[in-house]
This record gives sequence, structure tokens and C-alpha cells, in this order.
Amino acid sequence: MASSAPAPTRPSHPWNDPALEPYIRIERVSKSFSGFVAVDDVSLNIYRSELFCLLGGSGCGKTTLLRMLAGFEEPSSGKIHIDGLDMSGIPPYERPVNMMFQSYALFPHMTVDQNVGFGLKMEHRPRSEIADRVAQMLKLVRLSEFAKRKPEQLSGGQRQRVALARALIKQPKLLLLDEPLGALDKKLREHTQFELVNLQEELGVTFVVVTHDQEEAMTLSSRIGVMDHGKIVQVGTPQEIYESPSNRFVAEFVGSVNVFEGQVTASEAGRMRIRCAELEQALDVLSNAVAAPQARLWVAIRPEKIQLALQPPQAASNWTRGLVKEIAYLGDLSVLLIRLESGKTVRVTRPNVWRHEEESITWEQEVYLHWHDSSPMIVRE
Ligand code: ATP
Repeated sequence: MASSAPAPTRPSHPWNDPALEPYIRIERVSKSFSGFVAVDDVSLNIYRSELFCLLGGSGCGKTTLLRMLAGFEEPSSGKIHIDGLDMSGIPPYERPVNMMFQSYALFPHMTVDQNVGFGLKMEHRPRSEIADRVAQMLKLVRLSEFAKRKPEQLSGGQRQRVALARALIKQPKLLLLDEPLGALDKKLREHTQFELVNLQEELGVTFVVVTHDQEEAMTLSSRIGVMDHGKIVQVGTPQEIYESPSNRFVAEFVGSVNVFEGQVTASEAGRMRIRCAELEQALDVLSNAVAAPQARLWVAIRPEKIQLALQPPQAASNWTRGLVKEIAYLGDLSVLLIRLESGKTVRVTRPNVWRHEEESITWEQEVYLHWHDSSPMIVRE
């Protein structure tokens, strides 16, 4: 007889399980350089086997945070625990950590296999063991046939994989990567991103990656920590960061977005009516955000969530009108810039589903922009 007991509910992600010990625990860590605060009161948990990305613009403090994990910098205040151990005063070579630098720092005079085996040679491991492990690593990063080449005889992507093999051969529990794909062109970067994810899943090593490239962070990460001015402003899965940004900075930094200033005119459980001076009709928004009547707030709508029509929609809300000012055809999709009567320019993307558009939209045409009531996001300043 089938049991009537409910199936056990398991947290789908380790970070949803309050009982699980984080692998890295960063507690109120700050770092100042002669009075300049580069990392400002950061608290963050990272779990075993995660691929965690620190994402932010230039100078926001992400490399400094990574260097503190590696032990190249000591926090000015706060604590870092890795695998339950307090890292205060522990030098880099005594941490269960390996770091792969932005420049890869391969030895130019050594062959690929010598580069990969260098760390083991320094530890005076037996020659046969080094040869075996190098061969295993080169197979993993699919470079076996390049073992006798010098770095200068490799492409950027191949060099990146040598650096990765060299970092992984010592079997670190934690690998820190600073802009690992920065030197690669777009196509190779995309390809290598998937390889990196597969490799990380295969080995189960915890990766912490620093990047300023939001697309890269979205492709690679289990979770992303977005940094701004030394602070972590949001931590979440790529989808959470993109679909529910915690503030205007995150909304604008991750992907494109149209932002409108608005005022709440009515609200009830789960819904809000908002007036935006720049839009013709009111917004009727599905939202759990709590806002006082007449509160001023920011509403953000992603370009792909706006649809275009040549006739006015039947609804009394969630649409506006404008003139098509620019169209960029990118093959898979087109980007349109549409000027509203208020003077505001709105960005809209349309997938090019058909090879020949039935109802083509062209320059200077009047169009109606409309969206679903779940599309607008309410964001804090
Ligand atoms: P990028 O993407 O440009 O590498 P980042 O987010 O990694 O930027 P950090 O390298 O962490 O930024 O630097 C954060 C801030 O701290 C910057 O303003 C930088 O100038 C400053 N900084 C970093 N290291 C030092 C140092 N050793 N002495 C003084 N200031 C420093």
C-alpha cells in the first residue's frame, strides 16, 4: 500500500538549508588603504561546490575581497573563515586555496606540461606521479596534444586552460579566479564559460570568480554577489538578480532596463497602481512590495518584456505610445529605441522569430508599447 506520508521536502539549493555550514564565511569584513575604504563591511556565505561570482564595475572592491580570501591582503576589520577555520594571519600557501590570476602568469620558457606540473615539482613529488597527474589534468582540459608546446604557441583560450590545469593540479578545495576569461574574444569566451562550468561540476571544487562582465556572471554562477562602492548590494541566483533586482543600481548594471519615476495612486494586497509622468497610461502592477499611498518610487521594465503593436491596446493601463527612432538588427533579435511623447526614450528588444516579418515596424512609425502586469519591477533608489 502506498504511504500517505508527504514526500520529504529538500532544499533545492544549499544556501536554502539553514543547517548547512557555509564553506566560506565572510563576517563584517572591511579593508582600507590609507583611509580609502575599498571593501566596506561585507558579510557573505559561500557554500561547498558553488560557483560564486563577485560582479561589479571597475574599482568596486571585488579583487580586494578575492585577495583577502587568498591571503594576499589581511582585512582591516572582520573575519574570514574557510572550512570552519579562522584565516586571520594564515599566509596564502597555508590556505586550502589556489588563485588564478587575470594574466594567467604562465612561464614562457616552459612547455605546457612543465607549466602544469610546476607546483608538484616544487613539492619534490616523484617524477612518475607528476607525469601521471599532468597527463590527467591535460586530458581534463583537453590539451593532451599540446603538452610540448610553449605558451606563445597557444591561443588565448588554450593558455587559459593551461592556467586552469596548473591551478587545479594541486587539488585545491577552493579556486579563486580573477577575470578568468578577460583575455578571450567573445566567441571563445562563450565556449570557455561552458567548459568552465562543466569542469567545476565534474570536480566539485568551490570556485569564486571575479568579473565585471554581467553576461559572464549570469552564465557561470550558481549565485552572484553584486558589489558597488565596496559593499555587497545583492546576493542571489542569476535569475533573482535579473528578475528581482534589489535596487536601481543592480537593475541597471545587470542587463538593460527602462526606468521610470512614479507615484503610487492605489495599492491593495499584491497589486499597485502607479502613475508615471513619462507614460501615457497608469501602470497596474502585480507586486508584493509595500508602499504608502502617494509614495514615490522607481519602476523598471526590461526591454524584452515590452511588446509592440500598431493598434492601441484595449486595456486601460500598462501601455503607452511612441515613435520608432532607431532600429538595430542584430540577427537573433532587433533593438528598437522608441521616443515617447514625454521625450523619454524606451528600449525594446524583439526576437526575430520569422525570417520575413509580416508586420514590419519601421523608422518614424507610431507604435503602442504594452506589457504584462507582472513585468514592471519596483526598485529602490
Ligand atoms: P577592477 O575590475 O578595475 O580590477 P576591482 O573591483 O577589482 O576593480 P579593486 O582592485 O578591489 O577593484 O580596488 C578597489 C579600490 O581600492 C580601487 O579604488 C583601488 O584603487 C583601491 N586599491 C586597491 N588596492 C590598493 C592598494 N594596494 N593601495 C591603495 N588603494 C588600493
